Amino acid sequence: VLIIGSPNTECGLMAGLRVLECGGSAVDAVEQTLRVVEEQAGDGSVGLGGLPNILGQVELDASIMDGRNLAAGAVAALQGFLHPISVARRVMELLPHVLLVGQGAFLFAQEIGAERAELLTERGREELEMRLCAVSGTVAENEPLYRRVQALLGFRPGGTACAIAVDAGGHICTGVTTSGWAFKYPGRVGDSPLIGAGNYADDRYGAAACTGIGEAAIRIGAARSVVLRLSTGQRLDEALWQVMQEARRLKLGVPLHLNIYALSESGEHALCSTSGERAHYLCAYPGDREPRRLPALPLAALGDAPACT
Ligand code: ASP
Repeated sequence: VLIIGSPNTECGLMAGLRVLECGGSAVDAVEQTLRVVEEQAGDGSVGLGGLPNILGQVELDASIMDGRNLAAGAVAALQGFLHPISVARRVMELLPHVLLVGQGAFLFAQEIGAERAELLTERGREELEMRLCAVSGTVAENEPLYRRVQALLGFRPGGTACAIAVDAGGHICTGVTTSGWAFKYPGRVGDSPLIGAGNYADDRYGAAACTGIGEAAIRIGAARSVVLRLSTGQRLDEALWQVMQEARRLKLGVPLHLNIYALSESGEHALCSTSGERAHYLCAYPGDREPRRLPALPLAALGDAPACT
């Protein structure tokens, strides 16, 4: 029994651990952890207070995957609801579908009585205005939106929350929730709600979740790649390094930034990050009073070749 999470799950990881300690499922633990993060207005990358798209709308992406049976649910570009992770869970439980986007996700969230919220905070609004102001010399008011998105590529305050839990039955669940790439083009969907890219869990082999430039994780099917490598008997660190190596070959147009959190079926866990050992993740076992902080894998195994941009 254990739970791991990205650094910004610090506020919610112990709530998830308590669910597990009380005999709750991995799915309940992951949902509970991420709900706490989604409520924090101070986290500009998730839920309430998430940074908006270029039009000033907060569009949320989230997914959850149950490793018992490969069931999954996800929402993308959902506006106006506080807990996209819970909406994603209900997609998994109530529909024969995996992913709902935009208007459809909104309709479904309404139908299940999900909690509404104004997600754009004063800070989010100001941040967008400040960024637009900073580039106003290079992009005129009447230019297409995509030009403004391009002009803002230099500022990419990222962030996403993810958690992976193992319950007493040995079942694994992974969840990811985010407001995505700050100041993105409206309707842009990242890796977080895409099963196989930002999220994958299979009790037989392990699980993986990603944060960072979603386009990289999408293009290499990062989370599924890690789990597939584990299924062939590859070591966890090897699997992570090799998937990171694939990401480093991509030309993204922006510097590669990618974090892959993973867990093997035997309960081993690790983070591989483009920031190397400077990055860390959190982990908690039954009886822990607070999350343990663990460093990411060293990147030495990847050699010195710089990532493409
Ligand atoms: N992976 C997220 C996305 O691409 C953002 C991030 O983690 O910084 O939407």
